[in-house]
Amino acid sequence: MLNAAQEILRKVYGYSTFREGQEKIINSILQKRDTLGIMPTGGGKSICYQIPALVFPGTTIVISPLISLMKDQVDALAGLGIPAAYINSSLTQTETEQRMQSAARGEYKLLYIAPERLESEQFQSFLSAFNIPLVAVDEAHCVSQWGNDFRTSYLSIASFVERINPRPAVAAFTATATSGVTQDILRLLSLQNAELYMTGFNRENLSFSVLRGVNKKDFLLRYVKDNNEQAGIIYASTRKDVEDLCKLLCDNGIAAAKYHAGLGDEERKHNQDAFLYDDMRVMVATNAFGMGIDKSNVRYVIHYNMPKNMEAYYQEAGRAGRDGEPAECVLLFSPQDIQTQKFLIEQSVSASDRKAHEYKKLQSMVDYCHTQECLRAYILNYFDEQDHLPSCGNCGNCNQEYDLTDITIEAQKIFSCIRRMNERFGITLIAQVLKGSKNKRIAEFGFDRLSTYGVMQEYTEKAVADLINLLIAEGYLDLSGGQYPVVRLKPKAVDVLKGMTQVARKVRSKKQTAQAGNH
Ligand code: ADP
Ligand code: ZN
Repeated sequence: MLNAAQEILRKVYGYSTFREGQEKIINSILQKRDTLGIMPTGGGKSICYQIPALVFPGTTIVISPLISLMKDQVDALAGLGIPAAYINSSLTQTETEQRMQSAARGEYKLLYIAPERLESEQFQSFLSAFNIPLVAVDEAHCVSQWGNDFRTSYLSIASFVERINPRPAVAAFTATATSGVTQDILRLLSLQNAELYMTGFNRENLSFSVLRGVNKKDFLLRYVKDNNEQAGIIYASTRKDVEDLCKLLCDNGIAAAKYHAGLGDEERKHNQDAFLYDDMRVMVATNAFGMGIDKSNVRYVIHYNMPKNMEAYYQEAGRAGRDGEPAECVLLFSPQDIQTQKFLIEQSVSASDRKAHEYKKLQSMVDYCHTQECLRAYILNYFDEQDHLPSCGNCGNCNQEYDLTDITIEAQKIFSCIRRMNERFGITLIAQVLKGSKNKRIAEFGFDRLSTYGVMQEYTEKAVADLINLLIAEGYLDLSGGQYPVVRLKPKAVDVLKGMTQVARKVRSKKQTAQAGNH
């Protein structure tokens, strides 16, 4: 059967080889096993269910939450000569009925439906009479409440599958790889003895870097000018930033378009097309931009602000270099970004367990911005991929020439201060105590009488906070507990306090800093 799959890949799609993972997933589905494929956006999941749909007799049902994507997919399939259709709320009653009748006659190899349809008992019973070898569930994480994309209607999928006789194979796909979500998908979609494949998270052609403490606007202008022949995306957190940055670029003679949810449909469409067809090289956008965008030659993605979590970051950064050619992903970090994201969590999430979950994911993002290790290794580790290299040699942290500075003494001061404050406070207050700030809260708690009060007064408060963040990212300290998280010592820190281990910090070597400045 795999031979049949290979032949379809060549003859129908015109590709010579499967990508990493596609073959295993297709093979599992062809054996009629329930299968969960975890792959990043752009990883090539569509053919993972389309090819089995072509091999199996009958009609494969594809459940997809995005109306615009359904149309694109069906058009693309039509272009390949594959009979397919979609049914969703964009159709008139008559169109829907016509397509249902064609479907009942078995005219389609693939039928895309919106999940809301399955809430209708009538629709379910009509569909379940078809010959259905496979149900493919796109964006399967929508079944889980551990995310922002929860859709109640996804909960109807399991009962729908059970009433089809014989039971079809179920193939679920998602780009979200955290274990809570994975467990939810397996359980709530009632997957049976599912094969789980996580694949394609390592995008070798992407080079990652994080810049802290740079003047963001200066950097952006210089970068975009230096790369003015290239297409790039700049993501910012707020509509206002998008407006300001787009204006800044345009004022400097750069053809930049903008995209955010505050613009009208028409303007959004116009700007998006201008970017897709290379009339505008640069797109400045909020995270509203990108769902379903398949522009292959994006050479860089710059994050002007830190996003809310690693999933969001990797999805957005991953829009660079879809063509496999080298591309850059740069994140410009400032501490203010943490405040912005906390504010957004407070605004948008109400359930307390979910809130805690969001804060935890935010912390992983903050750690990414502070780690000294290979950024690619950090990413792959986060997404739980096995067999990855300890360092990639192609990211901001691997490429940097460093001088190592011993910061054991500073680390000991910080750790002992945290201990004396009974591990009950956040980064800001700890930094203030070490700095020796004269603020009222410190006096109220009597922290100005601690022996560690003011022991780092030669530093700025921000520099102390940066050091604390670094020590969190490096696993010496734990930061948890929602909106006002508390810093606690981990065993690694206790070893440092006992003088058993040293702490080193990588500092950009002087030579390189000078070169970067001349750039
Ligand atoms: P997603 O996982 O986001 O649904 P798609 O299925 O749309 O990704 O695939 C992303 C791109 O990769 C598409 O342009 C697709 O044609 C291309 N692609 C998928 N599989 C292969 C392959 N085996 N060889 C070459 N290109 C492929
Ligand atoms: Zn690296």
